[in-house]
Amino acid sequence: MTVPLVLVINSGSSSLKYQLLQPDSGESRADGLVERIGERGSEVPDHDAALRLAFDRLADDGIDLKTCGLTAVGHRVVHGGQDFYRPTVLDDAVITKLKELSPLAPLHNPPALRGIEVARKLLPDVPHVAVFDTAFFHDLPPAAATYAIERDLADRWQIRRYGFHGTSHQYVSEQAAAFLGRPVRELNQIVLHLGNGASASAIVGGRPIDTSMGLTPLEGLVMGTRSGDIDPGIIGYLCREAKMSVDDIESMLNHRSGVLGLAGERDFRRLREMIESGDSSAQLAYDVFIHRLRKYVGAYLAVLGRTDAVSFTAGIGENAATVRRDALSGLAALGIEVDEQRNLEQAHGVRRISTDASPVAVLVIPTNEELAIARDCLSVIAAR
Ligand code: ADP
Repeated sequence: MTVPLVLVINSGSSSLKYQLLQPDSGESRADGLVERIGERGSEVPDHDAALRLAFDRLADDGIDLKTCGLTAVGHRVVHGGQDFYRPTVLDDAVITKLKELSPLAPLHNPPALRGIEVARKLLPDVPHVAVFDTAFFHDLPPAAATYAIERDLADRWQIRRYGFHGTSHQYVSEQAAAFLGRPVRELNQIVLHLGNGASASAIVGGRPIDTSMGLTPLEGLVMGTRSGDIDPGIIGYLCREAKMSVDDIESMLNHRSGVLGLAGERDFRRLREMIESGDSSAQLAYDVFIHRLRKYVGAYLAVLGRTDAVSFTAGIGENAATVRRDALSGLAALGIEVDEQRNLEQAHGVRRISTDASPVAVLVIPTNEELAIARDCLSVIAAR
């Protein structure tokens, strides 16, 4: 029997990540990143060129995608709207429907769709599958999914809290259960996905009951370049008084806010150096980031009643020990006690950083969205 092999493609607006892997073993055969797509002076003018470059690089590594026995190509799609919440085999009809969703995620869905179109052209004989970042949160309880705005308007324009990073939240919560040696259905969990984009979720028995991102990935935590929660009144105020257009405001909130907007730097490694050299803007950016994170942890503890685990994942969550310490300091009375030494250890893989006495397990769990997407692909192909 041949071993299944899946190519996972994650096309962003200016970058394309790819990985060829075996979903069963999790073994990665090759991976790579094409950056600066469409930017001035870049050798990669568009997604067509980016994908061709990725295929050339794989060929240089001795992998011919046409003959290597590829089972499927998995595409990460950020927004699935109301209708797409299962891994979905892509055909022309599905693609047409996905295009109609682009207004819900104008920054994220169009590049993914371009990636899909090019990949289907280059590999027409393998099934292509879309896996949605919103899928895990499709069944959020109505109390968590509903915005308190005029109901008819919300219904008409499909305005609800969708949530994002779902593939990661699901994967990490399952890994946490495996690490603790307990069935996921028995656990209450908080997952903190802290990368350039950042989101939190509260999970009961493997199902999310709340998450910090909303209609778009702009809501919630403070992020690298996104504001997270703000008073919606700010938008009208800037529109009227600063004469900013809606596009200007959205661009500011998505690309020039968050840690970057406050400190002029979005990378947490650089931010740490700036703080250590006494930069007060960097300190403020860090403090605002941590304050918001703590508020969400507190909110989710209240929403859950109690939690068995708090898990940190993604670039910052997996690597920034100070963020983990500061996010959870002083919470011993709530059963959360991080062990200073364990937190500082630079280890790989899933690990526990809480004290042995801490009733709540605090974990660091490397996310692996590519593997989760590849496994989702197989599940839908097997069911056909
Ligand atoms: P995304 O996938 O959302 O682009 P990642 O999950 O790769 O983001 O996270 C990227 C961020 O992780 C970087 O911007 C950086 O701030 C942070 N990061 C990565 N490595 C480290 C590290 N060793 N220490 C602190 N922060 C780190």
